[in-house]
Amino acid sequence: MPHDPAFATPGRFFKGNLHTHSNRSDGALAPEAVCAAYREAGYDFLALTDHFLDKYGFPIVDTRPFRTNAFTTILGAEVHAPATSLGELWHLLAVGLPSDLAPTTKDETAPDLAKRCLAAGAFLAIAHPGWYGLTKADADTIEGAHAVEIYNHTSQIRTDRGDGGVLLDQLNAAGRRIGLCAVDDAHFHCRDYFGGFVMVKAVDNEPEALLSSLKTGAYYSSQGPVIESVAYGEDSVEIACSPASAVMVLGRGSRAAQHVGSDVTRVTLPLGVVRAGGFARVVVADNEGRRAWTNPVWW
Ligand SMILES: [Zn+2]
Ligand SMILES: [Zn+2]
Repeated sequence: MPHDPAFATPGRFFKGNLHTHSNRSDGALAPEAVCAAYREAGYDFLALTDHFLDKYGFPIVDTRPFRTNAFTTILGAEVHAPATSLGELWHLLAVGLPSDLAPTTKDETAPDLAKRCLAAGAFLAIAHPGWYGLTKADADTIEGAHAVEIYNHTSQIRTDRGDGGVLLDQLNAAGRRIGLCAVDDAHFHCRDYFGGFVMVKAVDNEPEALLSSLKTGAYYSSQGPVIESVAYGEDSVEIACSPASAVMVLGRGSRAAQHVGSDVTRVTLPLGVVRAGGFARVVVADNEGRRAWTNPVWW
């Protein structure tokens, strides 16, 4: 019987945004102001992930000075390499990088860059696949990635291409075991912040503990709804959440079970057809259409 580590791991939930830009690359605000905005909005942590490109001086911004007793930061970057199958620059989200990561070279491929970030200790996500038409064949080359961005808030606001669920499900249907995350990718040129976040289960709000939980999938992702518990049994899954209009469990292809209603806070859904497909993930949607997503589990 699988268990979802977000709910089976001891600790408490810490709210964070994993993908953010400052004026050290193409964002509008200084790093200190970005950290302050998230801290004042009630976030427990932030990863500032400026574009790791020559034209910006390959920044891995030191956000440690902006930590407080109740707010921490994880160092990271959005790293780039040529080229996707559509001939565009790759975008990969690397959270938990050393500040002295060596710059990329012109001939470093995306798979090699991904390996280098993973070896350096990063949580690695395939960023905004919808935004730039990333294909499954592209994603297949990024071995060891922990997650696909299922929701990228700035991509949604600016291009209506914020979704990554189709790619995520195709990868898992093909036998890969990869998680998901929701992020802002905030640049602060418009209201592209506070739209997608992660809730990480950890023993304390320290970068190492948060990073460890991210890598083991001990977190869920959300635009607002709260998922209180998810317990997989032999034949069913029990879900407790903030008042929802739909609670569903999704699996391979069209496999799904759901309860649609109003102010749903506790649901037991049958697993039979989903379990037979090899993996399952839970989605909770509220009355405003905001969603929360658990990481997949596998049989
Ligand atoms: Zn990007
Ligand atoms: Zn970005």
